[in-house]
Amino acid sequence: MVGLLVALGGNALQRAGGDGSWRESRQQMARVAPVLAEVARQVAPLVITHGNGPQVGVLLRENELAAAEVPARPLDVLGAETQGQIGFLVQTELTRALRRARVARSVLTVVSRTEVRPDDPAFRRPTKPVGRFYTEGEARLLRKEHGWVLVHDVARGGWRRLVPSPRPVRWLEGHAVRELLRAGLGRRWIPIVAGGGGIPVVRRRDGGYDGVEAVIDKDLAAALVARELGLSELAIVTDVRGAAVNFGRSGERWLGEVGREPLARWLAQGEFAEGSMGPKIEAGLEFLRRGGRRFVVTDIPSLPRALRGEAGTRVT
Ligand code: ADP
Ligand code: MG
Repeated sequence: MVGLLVALGGNALQRAGGDGSWRESRQQMARVAPVLAEVARQVAPLVITHGNGPQVGVLLRENELAAAEVPARPLDVLGAETQGQIGFLVQTELTRALRRARVARSVLTVVSRTEVRPDDPAFRRPTKPVGRFYTEGEARLLRKEHGWVLVHDVARGGWRRLVPSPRPVRWLEGHAVRELLRAGLGRRWIPIVAGGGGIPVVRRRDGGYDGVEAVIDKDLAAALVARELGLSELAIVTDVRGAAVNFGRSGERWLGEVGREPLARWLAQGEFAEGSMGPKIEAGLEFLRRGGRRFVVTDIPSLPRALRGEAGTRVT
């Protein structure tokens, strides 16, 4: 069992505080791609996955603004759109970086569906905020018109739509990528898969699958993908150099090499925030529990050193 899955965070793809333009996304990816190309020189199989939070937010807003003329599309379709958009971006810039670095590998984006259970408790209790903030009046209308669940965010003074975040149970395109790797093609191809955690789908009685209005946590999906492909390493790349205890407080300590037990204890104690660092650590521990060999959390500049055991938070 060898190989690496790199999970790129939404923030590694798009810098906070930018103008959100395509040009800027390309510039950001042009900074990320040479690092990935360096990793690609040394590691095979190499598989990439990515988040899509900011990109889905933009599509939701476009839906809203265009509603009078163009019918809005459901969340699963928006998820598929972001896989195409981000896959294209990574594919374009990484291909360029690979050529420059004279690494003879090609990049391939796989539109990916992730199966979730229709009886997942998440469907009865939506928790994941998506889209913009609404006024109280808007919130009332949206609840009535679409049956959305909205909550009041006291700190930021607005209402936000919540959608279910069910647990990923199976990556439907996994078998295809597994065949590719088994055929020894992992040295040649770098697949980009399960973007945004994959398009959430549920199995129907007739054996088919339908998309559902939900979002899947990309970190938990990354652990699933790494496991389904039998990869030995999982690297979650975000906008901080690792995980810390006492994060943002006095006594803050960045973790380097760390054991599974202390990490699980800190997770249970709430050291890693829900919805950000929490799911990464949970995903890493789950990956290791199910046979993964090494888990790393770090940022893009530190990734090569983290893979050599010299930076980032590392768990074996
Ligand atoms: P991504 O888009 O990469 O998934 P997230 O924003 O979801 O990024 O998660 C990364 C963020 O987690 C960091 O920017 C940091 O603010 C936050 N975070 C919360 N708890 C911790 C912690 N204990 N150590 C490090 N970062 C933490
Ligand atoms: Mg995140």
